[in-house]
This record gives sequence, structure tokens and C-alpha cells, in this order.
Amino acid sequence: MDKNKAIVVFSGGQDSTTCLFWAMKNFDSVEAVTFSYGQRHATEIEAAKEIASELGIRHHILDMSLLNQLSPSALTRDEEIVEKEGELPSTFVPGRNLMFLSFASVLAHQRGAKHIVTGVCETDFSGYPDCRDAFVKSLNVSVNLSMDKDFVFHTPLMWLDKKETWALADQLNQFDFVRNRTITCYNGVKGDGCGECPACRLRLKGMNEYLSEREGS
Ligand SMILES: [Zn+2]
Repeated sequence: MDKNKAIVVFSGGQDSTTCLFWAMKNFDSVEAVTFSYGQRHATEIEAAKEIASELGIRHHILDMSLLNQLSPSALTRDEEIVEKEGELPSTFVPGRNLMFLSFASVLAHQRGAKHIVTGVCETDFSGYPDCRDAFVKSLNVSVNLSMDKDFVFHTPLMWLDKKETWALADQLNQFDFVRNRTITCYNGVKGDGCGECPACRLRLKGMNEYLSEREGS
């Protein structure tokens, strides 16, 4: 197992692209894995492919349509996105990070990588239980027991809010790249997005907060 090699769970969005740059800074060898599960927009997968190819990153795209078969949600079907107080948003895909991190670990085993990097975040986690630190740590233990390995799961964004995630992209000298090349929007619009869906509102709010702070300092 290569101690300087990492697999990044990579969707082509702001968070995972920032994690990809973080991994490139911290490990000698980095590969990315994107899961295809009938996302609302194939443009996400295209953005991921373009970014990986431009950065010269070996990119694995794994078919996880099984997830869509098991867990229909507003992210995988053409349904309206609903957020109700006290309930999980309709964008929640049950089991998603459980499967993504498990399959990323199988890939890491195959590729001889010790490290697995994911952009999950407890600060802005929208109530998704599988974005919580306790879950990621617990799965790290289970995966290691299952394969008798000592993989290390990394969550560089776990305790950052959106503003701080923009700050991290900027520290890595990739603010403009992340702003223009990634796709976070639920309506499939690249860069600053549609500006109206919950993902765009969160992303733009964090970016504007970061930019006004940067200009003020
Ligand atoms: Zn949007």
C-alpha cells in the first residue's frame, strides 16, 4: 500500500474539487473516482471528466445505478426539491456516502492507495446523517476491519462552512478554477449556477461572504 497515494471521491462540484486540489498538495500520487448513479444532470459527470483530464488525474468512473434503483430521491429523479423544517431534504439519497466510501475503499485496495479523501462536511450538512464526522470515522474502522488494511479517511472540509471552503480553495491558489469550472447547481448550470436552487444559494452566500472578507482585509 502506497503511503503517499490518495483516492479522492470526486463529483466535479465545488467541495470535491477543492478536496482534489488539497490532495494534490498533500500526496505524491492522486486519483479520482466519480460515481455515476443517474444524477439529475449528466453535466456533472462531464465537468468531473474535464477537470480530471485537465489536471492530469487518473479518473475512475464507476456505475452505481444500483443506488438510483434502491434510493430514488430528488437528486436522481426529476422531482421537485423540497426542504421542510425538521425533515431530511428531498435531495437526500439514503446510503449514498456509505456506498461511495465503501466502493472508494475497494478501489483504493485495488490501486494500492492508503488514503481516501471525501468532501463531506458536518457544518453545512443539510441534515444528511452520512455527512457527519462520527459516521465517517465509524466507516473507516469498519472498512479497515473488512479488508484487514489501515486506510485513512480524510475529510478536509468537515468543520468548514462554505465561506471557509472558498478560503481553502484560495489558499490552494485555485479560487477562480473552482468558481468557474465546477458544478454544484441542482439545475445543472456550471460556475455561479442558476443562483436560485438551494445549492446555488448556499454556494453564492459563502462565496460573497469570503470575497467581502478578503476585500476588507
Ligand atoms: Zn442552481
